[in-house]
Amino acid sequence: MSSNLNGDLRRVRIEWVRQIAENAYVLEYQRFFDFEAGQIISIALSADESPRMYSIASGERDENIQVLFNVVNEGHLTPALSCLKAGDYLWTSAGFGKFTGTTGKAWWIAQGTGIAPFASMFRSGQREGKVLIHGGRYPDSFYYSDEFEPVLGENYIRCCSREIVSGTFHGRVTDYLNSIGPLSAEPLYYLCGSSEMVVETRDLLIKKGVPFTRIVGEIYF
Ligand SMILES: Cc1cc2nc3c(=O)[nH]c(=O)nc-3n(C[C@H](O)[C@H](O)[C@H](O)COP(=O)(O)OP(=O)(O)OC[C@H]3O[C@@H](n4cnc5c(N)ncnc54)[C@H](O)[C@@H]3O)c2cc1C
Repeated sequence: MSSNLNGDLRRVRIEWVRQIAENAYVLEYQRFFDFEAGQIISIALSADESPRMYSIASGERDENIQVLFNVVNEGHLTPALSCLKAGDYLWTSAGFGKFTGTTGKAWWIAQGTGIAPFASMFRSGQREGKVLIHGGRYPDSFYYSDEFEPVLGENYIRCCSREIVSGTFHGRVTDYLNSIGPLSAEPLYYLCGSSEMVVETRDLLIKKGVPFTRIVGEIYF
């Protein structure tokens, strides 16, 4: 069993792997730990290789751990992860990290697979007073929309950057935020996505009146 900064990795059995969009997959494996919605895990294909980090997309009471991932074609782990089947094994840590949810008012602002920690918070029952803004390139990039849409209604805003699609804002999340008025300092603003997206969105929120201390970010690198 290998050790890393995030604790021991343990071998777990894959329950299923599904492709949900051209480049996006979801997998589930047997759960062996408790976690707080929004936390991450480390994953590797063997005990002696360097693991990658992934947000947990499951709710706190769900039976399995679910991970949403994009395949990075030239990447080490994700092309192999996408080929796993039920009954295969991977190595994973328990949950860790401080990007955890709130029962109070919050805006969840995500890009691509950065929706995963918000899926976890939502599936854990954190729904009251939430606004979700999700940026994606194509209409099939709005992972978990079938769960969010009926509950969040007009507080669920999809920003589609590469295609004009009815019912979605055409542009990036920053274009959407630029198109609306000043923002309240009351909610917490959670940002999750690439470093460019998190930094650009954070700067924009500050310009729109949100105090720095109300902004929480998780960067996927
Ligand atoms: C906190 C956190 C949470 C995350 N959560 C998620 C998530 O929920 N879902 C998700 O899809 N991703 C998530 N990520 C990203 C994830 O950890 C991986 O980085 C991603 O899946 C790519 O892994 P890979 O092994 O396939 O690619 P890698 O092998 O890590 O390669 C990634 C990129 O780096 C380039 N690269 C690799 N090695 C080098 C090198 N030596 N020099 C220059 N370039 C190099 C590759 O060409 C490629 O473009 C998260 C990251 C962090 C930090």
